[in-house]
Amino acid sequence: MSMDSHIEKVLWTQDQISRRVTELAAQITHDFNSVSPPPVVVGVATGAFIFLADLVRNIHLPISVDFIRAESYGSGTLSSGAPVLSLDSKLDVKDKHVILVEDIVDTGTTLSSLIANLVSKGASSVSVCTFLDKPARRKIQVELVGEGKFYRGFECPDYFVVGYGMDFAELYRNLPYVGVLKPECYK
Ligand code: 5GP
Ligand code: MG
Ligand code: MG
Repeated sequence: MSMDSHIEKVLWTQDQISRRVTELAAQITHDFNSVSPPPVVVGVATGAFIFLADLVRNIHLPISVDFIRAESYGSGTLSSGAPVLSLDSKLDVKDKHVILVEDIVDTGTTLSSLIANLVSKGASSVSVCTFLDKPARRKIQVELVGEGKFYRGFECPDYFVVGYGMDFAELYRNLPYVGVLKPECYK
């Protein structure tokens, strides 16, 4: 059975995503053009991997790229509270401008602990670039650090979405667009 038949509703098509990601990357290129040293772009694994790949290929600056990992969701659709962090510390973020790349900001819990983690490692600013933002569900306001900026692709309505890197029970990350699953697929 094709994956498309599991989707009840498409929220953003591949074309819409591609156009928006190009705009975000152009904005970041513009904003960080004269920043020295060049920014460190840190993707939040696994969900941000596709967004990160598309975004960085459209940022026309000599950036470095790394991943950080945060887990809070397990295999369900409800947050389990405090995220477990496991930072790949291969890149030194001390005195660097960090751009944290997320798939989606929901309650804000994950992002807040990741920002605190990067600050404790000496980052001079932490900006956030999230593909989706669900402000209606925010529990913790995201505090940006230094000259940090907040970029978002789209505001997301209060649905549990999959695709473009985002999973349900580790499936559907490879869907090239973003949608909502049919109720029978959440079992
Ligand atoms: P927060 O800590 O902001 O509540 O949740 C952040 C993480 O939860 C996101 O980075 C993402 O991995 C996951 N998440 C939140 N909402 C959704 C959603 O609608 N779909 C999927 N697949 N994951 C989500
Ligand atoms: Mg995430
Ligand atoms: Mg997940």
